[in-house]
Amino acid sequence: MPQQATPPKQTGAELVRIVNCRQAYPKESSTDLVVLDGVNLSIRSGEIVGLLGRSGSGKSTLLRIIAGLLPPTAGEVIWKGKRLEGPAAGISMVFQSFALFPWLTVQKNVELGLEAQGVPPAEREKLAEDAIHLIGLGGYENAYPKELSGGMRQRVGLARALVVRPDLLLMDEPFSALDVLTAENLRTDLVELWAEKKLPIQSILLVTHNIEEAVLMCDRILIFSSNPGRVAYELQVPFEHPRNREDMAFRQFVD
Ligand code: ADP
Ligand code: MG
Repeated sequence: MPQQATPPKQTGAELVRIVNCRQAYPKESSTDLVVLDGVNLSIRSGEIVGLLGRSGSGKSTLLRIIAGLLPPTAGEVIWKGKRLEGPAAGISMVFQSFALFPWLTVQKNVELGLEAQGVPPAEREKLAEDAIHLIGLGGYENAYPKELSGGMRQRVGLARALVVRPDLLLMDEPFSALDVLTAENLRTDLVELWAEKKLPIQSILLVTHNIEEAVLMCDRILIFSSNPGRVAYELQVPFEHPRNREDMAFRQFVD
C-alpha cells in the first residue's frame, strides 16, 4: 500500500474542548484516587479521533465527563463554545458491553433515545427503522437482544446512538467484547459508512487499547498516560488514510 505523506486534513469547527480536567474519586480509607489530571484536548467537526491508553488510565471516566454524565472535579468541558453543565443533546455513546435492555426488542431499544427527546411515536418508528437498516440489521426489528450475536447486539447499540443524529459519537472500546472477525467486520462497515458520509454524525471519539484499530480508523490518535490519565502524545496518521481510498484498500488491508 503506498504511504504518501499528506498534510493534515482540514477539518471543521471545534465541537468540544476539554480544558484542564481533573477527576478524583473519593476513597474512604485514604487520599482520593486521582484518575485524570490536566487533561486537555479538542475535537473538530469531520474527524475521527482515537484515544489509546491502558486499562485503568481513566478513558471511560473521561468519556463520561465529555458526555456530561459526570461533572469533573476541576476544569471544564466546552461544548460548541459553551460550558457543559449536564448531558448534552448532540452527544451519544456506544458502550463496550452494548448496554441494551434485554426485555425490549431491537426496534424499542433503538427508539429509546428518541423517546427521551419527545419525538412522536410514528416518527420514532421511522427513524429507528432507518438507523437499523443503516447498520445492517434490517429484518431484525422485532428480535430480542438474546436472540442476536455479539456483533449484532453492538450494531443495535450503534443504531441506538445514531438514531438521535448526534454531532459527536463517543465509542468506549466498542469492539473489545467481540471476537476478532466480528470486530473486523463491524469496524470495516463503520469506516465505509463514514467514508461514504452515510453516518448522521460529525465526529467520533474512539476509545481503544488496540493500536491497529486506532491507526485504521482514526485521523488523529491521542496517547493517554496512566496515573494520572492525561494526553501524553498526539499522532497524526501520516499517510493517505486507507478509508479515503476509492479502491477500498481498507478492506484489503484488514483481510
Ligand atoms: P479505563 O476506562 O481507562 O479502563 P476508568 O475510567 O474505567 O479507566 O477507571 C480509571 C480508574 O478509576 C480505575 O482505577 C477505576 O477503578 C477508578 N474508577 C472508575 N470509576 C469509579 C467510580 N465511580 N468510583 C471510584 N473509582 C472509580
Ligand atoms: Mg474503560
